[in-house]
Amino acid sequence: MSEQLTLHEKLSHLARNYWWSWQPDAAAIFRSIDPARWSELDHNPVLLLREYTPDKLEDRAHQLSLHSSVNRMYRKWQEYMQSDDTWGDTQATVLGHRPTAYFSAEFGLHESLPVYSGGLGVLAGDHLKSASDLGVPLVGVGLFYDEGYFFQKVDETGWQQEDYIHAKTTDLPMRPAVGTDGKPVKVSVQTRTGTIYATVWRIDVGRVRLFLLNTDIPDNGEEDRTLTARLYSGGTRTRIRQEIVLGVGGLRALTALGIRPGVIHMNEGHSAFAGLEMVRMKMQEDGLPFDQALRETAMMGCFTTHTPVPAGHDRFDSDLINEHIGPLAEQLGLDHRGLLGLGRVDPHNDGESFCMTVLAFKLSRRANAVSSLHGVVSRRMWAPLWPWRAEEEIPIGHVTNGVHVPSWMAAQMRVLYDRVLPLDWYLRTGEPEVWAGFENVTPGELWETHQALKNRLILFVRQRMMRSARRYGADNAEIDRIGSMLDPNALTIGFARRFAPYKRADLVMRDLENFRRVLGDENRPVQVIYAGKAHPRDDLGKEVMRNIIRLTGDTSLLGRVVFVENYDINVCRHLIQGVDVWLNNPRRPLEASGTSGQKVVLNGGLNLSVLDGWWAEGYDGKNGFAIGGGQTHVDYAVQDQRDAQDLVRVLNEEVIPIYFDRDRDDIPQKWVKMMKRAVRTLGWRFNADRMVMDYVKSSYIPAAGGLSCAMPPAV
Ligand SMILES: *Cc1c(COP(=O)(O)O)cnc(C)c1O
Repeated sequence: MSEQLTLHEKLSHLARNYWWSWQPDAAAIFRSIDPARWSELDHNPVLLLREYTPDKLEDRAHQLSLHSSVNRMYRKWQEYMQSDDTWGDTQATVLGHRPTAYFSAEFGLHESLPVYSGGLGVLAGDHLKSASDLGVPLVGVGLFYDEGYFFQKVDETGWQQEDYIHAKTTDLPMRPAVGTDGKPVKVSVQTRTGTIYATVWRIDVGRVRLFLLNTDIPDNGEEDRTLTARLYSGGTRTRIRQEIVLGVGGLRALTALGIRPGVIHMNEGHSAFAGLEMVRMKMQEDGLPFDQALRETAMMGCFTTHTPVPAGHDRFDSDLINEHIGPLAEQLGLDHRGLLGLGRVDPHNDGESFCMTVLAFKLSRRANAVSSLHGVVSRRMWAPLWPWRAEEEIPIGHVTNGVHVPSWMAAQMRVLYDRVLPLDWYLRTGEPEVWAGFENVTPGELWETHQALKNRLILFVRQRMMRSARRYGADNAEIDRIGSMLDPNALTIGFARRFAPYKRADLVMRDLENFRRVLGDENRPVQVIYAGKAHPRDDLGKEVMRNIIRLTGDTSLLGRVVFVENYDINVCRHLIQGVDVWLNNPRRPLEASGTSGQKVVLNGGLNLSVLDGWWAEGYDGKNGFAIGGGQTHVDYAVQDQRDAQDLVRVLNEEVIPIYFDRDRDDIPQKWVKMMKRAVRTLGWRFNADRMVMDYVKSSYIPAAGGLSCAMPPAV
């Protein structure tokens, strides 16, 4: 059958399932067709293929001898889609016909689909990819933001400017989701001031389907047509309207598609209204009374909290709740106070606003934080919800975040893994024994591979900076200067993430004189590459960013600090694959987990991080570097000062001496030993397969009523 498809058809099918994006060979095929266009089109194969008629593509493929690799890739994909001996087939059978519905306000799957803003979205994307690889029955539910998150530019004064593009559904691998009646699904949600309608789009992520709702349709009035235009924009009114579309609309979409989930997994509280819709379904369709419907909904609910600061949780006032949830509450037989009580720690406290996190806790029996330390913080923070329990008995556990290995590991690195690890290692990434073999990589080979990736990063950064400089009208001399910036022999430090103030991107400026000295040593060159976006309405974050931009222009730093515009999955991939050291210095304990450092590990980079989030669990004294001894201080200024000084100290006393200690072949043997140790001790734990397996075992199976839900035997 597949043999009868043309090359163009095969590639078009591949392009319409994001599975291709975690196959290095597939990306290589698309790139080879036209490397320049591939880059200009943001690695979007749907657009690339549109530029080729079947005949023209045949000619090109003939030139490049692509046929056999395309056939191989296509066959591999077919086998992947049809296989029935996955981990999930044996370990998650209870989910078979009642999949997990995974709700998230953002999904970061690939740079060509800009419906994510940062770590939360990329985590959701990695969750879907690992669920697909493991064969775990799961569907994703989110929103399609047709203007996405923004494209970042920095103006002459160092201030961030936001550009919004309009993403066309026809340019992306998405299609209307078709319901059980054979028609494209449209859902509606009633409010007291009118009905909001949404269409539903389907995106294939390997074996997993992701459904995204969008309100830009003629059925809606002007306000609602733009409701899902942008991610995290607008005030609380836009926010609550987006959230009922996501939660209530999302679950209705699944119903129309004939999907009745066995588990509702809420990735952050944004989607907690889904639980209320589930209660309604159980009351109306199964005829249960409210209390029982609520209990049963909570049984199937699984909630992941990500935010360790009270201000970070969505809260709505009574009027907004009444306007938007009033009609649904009436169907549940709840009066206004009863409804408000579901979003309050103390249901009777009229001074409390309605909190989505509280609602999510009340609608799920299983709740978790995203690292061990974050678990401690979350239990303390939410203890008032369970006033009769001691702190360590608060029912919030933790599942530490992880990253999807095939998405973040460089192809060249993968070659080394393939050589020394068991043949099927990538199917067993959650097993420590599998990673132990990394010890057998020869130091020279590992170092050379790393150097090659670092050179690639430097070329990428130079190109990006030259492109920006041209846009600002820089002259040729200036562009030439930029084109030779960055030194492949320098210790290269990367820092890239959202510019949220707690992440303290400009921490080094608290000890600037000493940091200058670090960068000024001609014999042991050190350079830093920064990237990141500030939230459009976060002026504090933008100021932090401007501080960094000023550093890049500081002539005493000899061009050793650079900033790359428009941080996204693509920029992230280059950075985490090419840096020597990944710097992470959040104000402890505010980084719930962090995941970018985990991506670095897979590629042989070393972490230099405050002992917060995942690093507080991962660091063993020899697999990277720690800033601070894991203390916190109530006074932010004191804490910042101490951490900055310790950061410079660790650079001077540990990082730099080890990095520049070379043998006769110019290989830093001690450093390479640490690279290996990092892969061996961290790779198996901080990956998304392990994470999804943990969720299946600790949450999904019990929530779906599977075996491990059985009560412990009464003795
Ligand atoms: C992985 C990733 C993040 C998460 O970074 P943290 O340092 O964990 O906050 C953010 N943005 C993008 C584009 C990523 O790929």
